[in-house]
Amino acid sequence: MNEAVTALPNMPAEDFSKPYRDMLEFQSQSTDDFLYLIDFPHDQAYFFGNIDKDYSLRDDGKDIHSIMDLMKIVHPADHRALGEDFGRIQAGLQAVHNMNYRWITRDGRVVWINCRGNVVLSDEQGLPVLMIGRVSEETLRHLYKPLTGLWNKTKLREDIPDRLARDSGYLMLVDIDSLAAINLRHGRDYGNRLLREVANLLAEAPGVSAVYHTEHNNFATVIDAANTATVEAVFTQLQETLKKKCTLSAGVVPVSHAVFSDVSSLLDAAKLTLNRAKTHTAFRLEFFSMAEINRKFAELTLLDELSRSTQSDFDGFALNYQPQLNAGNYNIYGIEALLRFTSPSRGPVSPDEFIPLLEQSHLIDTVGIWVMREALRQCRDWRRTIPDLHMSVNISIVQFEEPYLAEHIMEILRELELPGDVLTIEITESVMLRESPHIASSMKYLKAAGVSLSIDDFGMGYSNYSYLKMLNVNEIKIDRSFISGIEMDTYNYKLISSILEFARVNAIRVCCEGVESTRELAVLEALHPDIYQGYLFDRPLTARDMEDAYIRGGTAAHAERAAFVQKLYAFKEKMGIIHFNPIDILRRNNIGLWIIRIDPEQRYCEMHVDDTMERLLGVDRKYTPEECYTFWYDRIAKEYIDYMAVKLKLMIETDKIVQLEYTWEHPLYGEITVRCNGRRVENSDGMIVLEGYHRILTNGDRI
Ligand code: C2E
Ligand code: CA
Ligand code: CA
Repeated sequence: MNEAVTALPNMPAEDFSKPYRDMLEFQSQSTDDFLYLIDFPHDQAYFFGNIDKDYSLRDDGKDIHSIMDLMKIVHPADHRALGEDFGRIQAGLQAVHNMNYRWITRDGRVVWINCRGNVVLSDEQGLPVLMIGRVSEETLRHLYKPLTGLWNKTKLREDIPDRLARDSGYLMLVDIDSLAAINLRHGRDYGNRLLREVANLLAEAPGVSAVYHTEHNNFATVIDAANTATVEAVFTQLQETLKKKCTLSAGVVPVSHAVFSDVSSLLDAAKLTLNRAKTHTAFRLEFFSMAEINRKFAELTLLDELSRSTQSDFDGFALNYQPQLNAGNYNIYGIEALLRFTSPSRGPVSPDEFIPLLEQSHLIDTVGIWVMREALRQCRDWRRTIPDLHMSVNISIVQFEEPYLAEHIMEILRELELPGDVLTIEITESVMLRESPHIASSMKYLKAAGVSLSIDDFGMGYSNYSYLKMLNVNEIKIDRSFISGIEMDTYNYKLISSILEFARVNAIRVCCEGVESTRELAVLEALHPDIYQGYLFDRPLTARDMEDAYIRGGTAAHAERAAFVQKLYAFKEKMGIIHFNPIDILRRNNIGLWIIRIDPEQRYCEMHVDDTMERLLGVDRKYTPEECYTFWYDRIAKEYIDYMAVKLKLMIETDKIVQLEYTWEHPLYGEITVRCNGRRVENSDGMIVLEGYHRILTNGDRI
């Protein structure tokens, strides 16, 4: 396309480029881009298309401008790069111009444009005569945020591979803390101005080579720094400049190909690091640490081993079996299958480490089916001796994303000629709460075949009970954290007894998991759960050990187990069932009891307290219930008043146990932290009644 002319025709400049301009004028009618022509020898630039609407280039009324005139609508930060590119063209060193840079609109907005051009005519020295090109707003529109004029997340993802290949510098993710609250307090315009200010500060910070506005209150910057000290200096300076307006949090990761194999893992690590930074109260900058890098490596190695194993007949995977015993006679009810993995390089690896990896990589789909087949096959064999043996298998949420999970499970049952009621599927409570639509439909199908549904780790996720009814749950497994030390813990005792009460009414089986001591067992006996599982009876066993102790008779292990059960009976006879005495324990743990009665119409409140509570409140004389309420309420720290109102409302409007933690002005000790648990109970005398516990937290108690 680039023609050479021997000599410039001797005619007025306008006439010389006229044929080209006519052509461009005509073409510009069929595009939203702006076409342009530059006549270098005469230093003239022409634009075609509707450029006057947003840009003030031609406000002087002229059609023709000098090349320098164009700069007045270019973002100052881009002047240098653009000047350099044009310099090379004018020197005849390059014939193609292709750049992204920013224009500024009449009303001060920043617009990223893509500007391309070709020299179409040169002189005999190879210097440019005419260049034709186009400016497109459209090409880049999906790549930046109009609010700040910064590149967005899509562009960041596009740019990162290049950066990774260069293997240098740092990526820093920066969040403006509590932007939502700032918007609420000062208005959206203020928030937007703040975002623009942070954007500008980041763009101008030393060493910053690119800034992206990735999410509403989040920026990403690439910093060309040799070490972390430089990055820290950038962040400190930013914090300092903005300290009157907001605080920032930042997570920093090295842009290193050796550490991160792809864009996603780099960005995930940066996000994680940022989240960690947010938990610090004072200095909110966090670096991706070397220890973490090593952990990451170990993780990748393990993932690789897991993946190989699934491809070579699940070599390295095995199942352990933990017995579940009937309450009362301690006979075996069923077995939970627990997955184990032995790494070729490290030996046995904890499930808490490898199961999340299987889930993230979706390897759990195939491994989970293997577990199911293996566990049920084993159960079929053992059923020859114990015909009604049950098998529990854990299924994670990821597996439910596979639409044919239920069909696969049914197929295995058919293959092994087992009835559906052999199988109990354990799903963790947190999973249920996410209400995956697949779970409900898959479970419905399986339950129709007799398969049981069990909620694992129950109590951790605060599910409300109506949910359990809706899903037609067959079993609840109470998490170990509620069982351990039960003989000392009022909260947990109360919680477990209310779960059991609910379960009994709804014919749901309750399994107490993680029973470790005879004392725990003795306390639990009084509550009459259905099943126990825990180290007190047995740890998860290999198939062989399981067989010896529980399935086959006549072995030493079998005799040992029988003797242990005898010992349990003897213990029970000697001790009796330990009846939990809540009042005693409350006293010992300094837990006060309170009842609040509210008459919303009369706007009247009263508080009744027991003597421990009276002591904890530090009252100096007998108060009437009304005075007592006022005494308590007036001492709640001001900043907690709204919070308390919300929580009390929640307590009144739901049947949930609500936990509160707040600062309270104690008459003797000053500011203390109080935790209380409360729930609504039946109305009395037409008044709303709430009751609960009150406890002063020491530092050691805080979660
Ligand atoms: P989980 O389903 O809650 O399994 C019970 C865990 O508690 C097991 O840990 C078991 O060894 C442990 N445990 C049992 N009794 C006691 C006790 O008295 N004291 C203490 N301290 N611990 C006790 P494990 O085998 O390490 O498994 C950890 C988790 O890994 C399981 O928790 C489950 O969530 C997951 N998992 C194990 N196998 C599978 C599987 O095949 N599929 C899936 N999706 N998850 C699995
Ligand atoms: Ca389980
Ligand atoms: Ca569990």
